Amino acid sequence: MAPPLQRLPSHPGCAQPAPPFHMAPPLQFLEPRLISPLPSATIAPPLHGTAGPTLPHRPAPTVPIAPPSICLPVSFYRPASAVYNQPHPALAPRPLFIYRQPCPAPAVRPFSAGCPRVASVRVGGKVAAMAAEALAAEAVASRLARQEEDIRWLWAEVHRLRDEQLNAPDRCQAEGPCLTREVAQLRAENRELRHCLYRLRLCLAEELSHQARLESAARAEAGRAAAGAQPPPSQSPEEDVKKEIDPDNEVKNPPNFMKERLKFFEILKKDHQLLLAIYEKKGDSSNVITVRVADGRTVKGEAWKTTPYQVAAEISQELAETTVVAKVNGELWDLDRPLEGDATVELLTFEDEEARAVYWHSSAHVLGEALELHYGGLLCCSPPGDGSFHYDVYLEDRAVSSAELPVLESMCQAIIKEQQPFERLEVSTKVLLDLFKYNKFKCRILKEKVATPTTTVYRCGPLVELCKGPHVRHTGTIKVIKIFKNSLAYWADNPEMEMLQRVYGVSFPDEQRMAAWEELQEEARARDHRTIGKEQELFFFHDLSPGSCFFLPRGACIYNTLIDFIREQHHQRNFTEVLSPNMYSCKLWEASGHWQHYSENMFTFDIDKDTFALKPMNCPGHCLMFAHRPRSWREMPIRLADFGVLHRNEPSGALSGLTCVRRFQQDDAHIFCTVGQLEEEIKGCLQFLQSVYSTFGFSFQLNLSTRPENFLGKIELWDEAEKQLQNSLMEFGKTWKINPGEGAFYGPKIDLEIKDALGRYHQCATIQLDFQLPIRFNLTYVSKDGDDKKNPVIIHQAILGSVERMIAILSENYGGKWPFWLSPRQVMVIPVGPTCEKYALQISSDFFEEGFMADVDLDRGCTLNNKIQNAQLAQYNFIFVVGEKEETNNAVNVQTRDNKIYGEISVTSTIDKLKNLKQSRTLNAEEEF
Ligand SMILES: [Zn+2]
Ligand SMILES: [Zn+2]
Repeated sequence: MAPPLQRLPSHPGCAQPAPPFHMAPPLQFLEPRLISPLPSATIAPPLHGTAGPTLPHRPAPTVPIAPPSICLPVSFYRPASAVYNQPHPALAPRPLFIYRQPCPAPAVRPFSAGCPRVASVRVGGKVAAMAAEALAAEAVASRLARQEEDIRWLWAEVHRLRDEQLNAPDRCQAEGPCLTREVAQLRAENRELRHCLYRLRLCLAEELSHQARLESAARAEAGRAAAGAQPPPSQSPEEDVKKEIDPDNEVKNPPNFMKERLKFFEILKKDHQLLLAIYEKKGDSSNVITVRVADGRTVKGEAWKTTPYQVAAEISQELAETTVVAKVNGELWDLDRPLEGDATVELLTFEDEEARAVYWHSSAHVLGEALELHYGGLLCCSPPGDGSFHYDVYLEDRAVSSAELPVLESMCQAIIKEQQPFERLEVSTKVLLDLFKYNKFKCRILKEKVATPTTTVYRCGPLVELCKGPHVRHTGTIKVIKIFKNSLAYWADNPEMEMLQRVYGVSFPDEQRMAAWEELQEEARARDHRTIGKEQELFFFHDLSPGSCFFLPRGACIYNTLIDFIREQHHQRNFTEVLSPNMYSCKLWEASGHWQHYSENMFTFDIDKDTFALKPMNCPGHCLMFAHRPRSWREMPIRLADFGVLHRNEPSGALSGLTCVRRFQQDDAHIFCTVGQLEEEIKGCLQFLQSVYSTFGFSFQLNLSTRPENFLGKIELWDEAEKQLQNSLMEFGKTWKINPGEGAFYGPKIDLEIKDALGRYHQCATIQLDFQLPIRFNLTYVSKDGDDKKNPVIIHQAILGSVERMIAILSENYGGKWPFWLSPRQVMVIPVGPTCEKYALQISSDFFEEGFMADVDLDRGCTLNNKIQNAQLAQYNFIFVVGEKEETNNAVNVQTRDNKIYGEISVTSTIDKLKNLKQSRTLNAEEEF
């Protein structure tokens, strides 16, 4: 008998929980580039000043605030934001650090006093300058030491707060919504605190690395000046930290657990080899197996001995070397893993999507090895990336600095050079708990996600990882590797869990592919919607309302055109538009379940002794509309559409242009229907999707997410609904993928993933079934047979999703070259000379009256050619040049932003043509004119 093969979900620790309610997908990590960079030429300003959200400065209290005399719920705590409102320490007395402390602990913790202000460190040859530098360096060192102490204290505070929160839910339920709100607030504050802590660490790491560079420059200079005089050896803690992050100072001592782990692995490997020997002995002639290769060839082999790599090598050595991974009887298989019986073997190269995923996944192990060696942290997981890979590592009290990425990259290159083989072992889960006892994250995965008695580990070099595999043969298969980005992440994407450092990399089998990838990144940077938004004057953000976008007239034009487009579609598809309130009493949110599951993402406030919240979604309001009067089967399905303004309390550090905002609108719709109507309604939703996304020119992929483990409701209802969704998808005829167990707890869903012009995927539209909300709101209708207790099913439908986010995606997809119908600059009228200005103005106003975004360029300081060029650069779809001849003929001379010249055409005919182009929403108006 062969040992049992156990299947693990790929990287079990990384399964992403479905968001509790349908929303624009949340940002899962923080981009460090969003954090204001430190000025590079001067010593960084005090970290506390740069870390927090920009809020008006308040004078710092000068006397300690006495702790409350009795122990009360969390409402007694000071808001966390107080910490970050302090004035610049160089301008004001050192602020007191006021922080939430439960009594009887003191409520005030003063920061270490005094912070010398260091304006710059000049590197000079004179003794006086040297002394000044030494003083400055000492001052910085002592400040850094204090800041480190602050960080440690903050970190302890984070843990304490988290523990408190974890113990809070029971108390909350007992003490009612008021306390729930307090806890929600506390959670939100805690989240902010974590972000601030992260920024502090990042700033500290950057500052240290900057300081190290300055110091080494100063030493070199001093060396030259003092002819060989050595700088005094430093014993400061700063020096120790510096060693850790100085690119020339790799950590030479690997963490202790690595040695232990490796020893353990070798023992397990011996056991495994013994077992294999037994299998080999057992069989004699019966050991011969037949291997069918995908190209039709048949090769003889030996069970438990012959590997896919040997099979490939038998065909050709070149094939063996270019094969990334094998597929044995349909299952991805390590090239060096022996076949266990007769098999069909496919040999996949980098051209194959599945092989690329294995290639990048294996590269993540290389990165993991480097991370472990460099930081000695706890590796968490490396969920599959899209065209790249990343690894999450837990470093407890420090952050990865972008200055360290080159070090990690060169470590990865060294690992690749060593051609470390990937060795696979299948081990009992119990033994693995012992093997990974040093790593709480691996233990969590083993305990929570692994349901089988055994699972697999892989070794490459000193790294032993819990992993389902498969991998490439050895690290040398990876030819070119680049470590390009780092950010913040949370365990299981949950901001209440441990904060992790995420490091990103990409790898390829050759330099050309890497160059193409770099080019694509460059293109993506150039197309960044934030840049386009600024250049085209579409929108901006202001510190006085973080996360809420100001759409300027041109941006508002795009926004409204999108909404008008969907509104027209709603009308054609029998959706009726409604308007609903923006704020509701917490009683509504308790009924909908948002209070229990989502309150930390909601903005809450008190009115007349009642707690209110701004709506993060429209569904509960629509439920009130359904329940407004008795409903009959005759009026079903009821399709309500709402473009209402929604608010979500995203952490300030997560806010990112239009892709993660606090204020947004959705093309939100809710269909209340009977179970029997589901199939037809879903079909309608899919056609709706198709029509909208083909208008934008996007290709898309549909994913059906089915019943998760923690589902609510009757299993038969789920089965029936999933069957209907599948039927609708089959009939729709596009390819779709099933994501088993990925549905929301309240119903299955269909997600749409679009592919943009740069080949990047974005999750946009969503169609979610909901069996729970109608029950929570006790929504009923009278059925055909007179039953008045029938619950409808709700379909949540958002085609664009967040309009804000869609504008970001469209900006980047079109690279700012808006298609005519959506363009905020459709027509530019240019007079050939001053005598034709009046006519040009008239033409511009005529086209404006006809509903086009028309402008006129009357700048006399600019030549005709320059004006045309400017209009083209500003992406005006059509440029009308008008002179005396055109005026006489009541015509315009038409050309496009792409230099296509149509020549003189009458005004009426041009208006007609443009109207048709606008109405057809074509993507090629400039060609079809
Ligand atoms: Zn792996
Ligand atoms: Zn909804």
